[in-house]
Amino acid sequence: MHTFRTSVRYTARMVPPEERFLAPAPILDDEEVERSLRPRALADFPGQERVKENLEIAIEAARKRGDALDHLLLYGPPGLGKTTLANIVAHEMDVAIRTTSGPAIERPGDLAAILTNLKEHDILFIDEVHRLSRAVEEILYPAMEDFALDLVIGKGPGARSVRLAMPKFTLIGATTRYAMVSAPMRDRFGSVYRLDFYDAPTLAQIVRRSARILGVPLPEDAAFEIARRSRGTPRIANRILRRARDYAEVRGGGAITLESTREALALLEIDDLGLDETDRMVIRCIVEKFAGGPVGLDTIAASIGEEADTIMDVYEPFLLQRGFLQRTPRGRVATAGAYRHLGIEAPRGTGAQPALWATDDSAAAGTGEEE
Ligand code: ADP
Repeated sequence: MHTFRTSVRYTARMVPPEERFLAPAPILDDEEVERSLRPRALADFPGQERVKENLEIAIEAARKRGDALDHLLLYGPPGLGKTTLANIVAHEMDVAIRTTSGPAIERPGDLAAILTNLKEHDILFIDEVHRLSRAVEEILYPAMEDFALDLVIGKGPGARSVRLAMPKFTLIGATTRYAMVSAPMRDRFGSVYRLDFYDAPTLAQIVRRSARILGVPLPEDAAFEIARRSRGTPRIANRILRRARDYAEVRGGGAITLESTREALALLEIDDLGLDETDRMVIRCIVEKFAGGPVGLDTIAASIGEEADTIMDVYEPFLLQRGFLQRTPRGRVATAGAYRHLGIEAPRGTGAQPALWATDDSAAAGTGEEE
């Protein structure tokens, strides 16, 4: 039933990750367009209902008390809306937001400079919060807990520590790796939410909204086709929409149709379930080179020439959620669904494919976890 190629002709190394079409991290011209497509209010943000409901209550309560919002940690695979939600929270709280990321804060002094510039109730958004260094975290703890900045003045034996009060602010942390956020850090967040992959009807709603903003007419069937082939990820759905628009303009006579959308997707080598070349290489590697597994992530990474971290953050969560992979204590195992998708007969006793688009904890258990 699936008609994509069955031989591995490329290795992942041949296409830099930032240029790979399905990469859920921002690529090329993405950032500017993304900004224009970002919902500004919770009411314009489809999906993630449980998270939204909790946020709505927390925001209203904080506003009523005239207080800052509790520190908030958002985690989940890239492109699901963590940055967008942080900005929405700032907008709804009517406060300023300062954005930075774990790797960008190199020294404790960098963080101290950011913290001293915050105003009462402002939001500090730290993306990739799991990548903060220990020394930087040490500055953050008293700031989060007591709204205090501990500074060391002077050097050597004469050095002394002074504590400065700082305005009450809200830290919003985002991470793709919940398990790598240090325990003392995790404990200091008042609430922690996991973002899930989106179902196809919600993604269809998102691309219809984006099409309206971009001023592109989008038939219902084409919207749904994009939705169901975008790995449950709004960033990818928006990106496919733009490529479908380009394709229709250049090859399809102007207007997007189901037909032109399918042709654009074929050109992008995105298969019927939304898997790209690297996704297929991961499952093909397990099936063909390691007899279906179990096999360790590092071995898979070395074998297809991809970074283990990238596989873990970007590719594996969706393959797990879609039921192509399972994690076992001895390594990754390909499921019967993976064999079926590759058009290869599965050996007897191969694990079943869990329900598609399941969003319960058991099916999504892989997201954000560590080896
Ligand atoms: P993350 O921070 O989790 O990597 P972002 O918040 O940057 O993801 O979202 C990536 C893109 O996807 C943004 O352009 C944003 O507009 C879009 N997006 C994400 N979630 C939604 C949503 N629920 N509704 C509409 N657009 C969304």
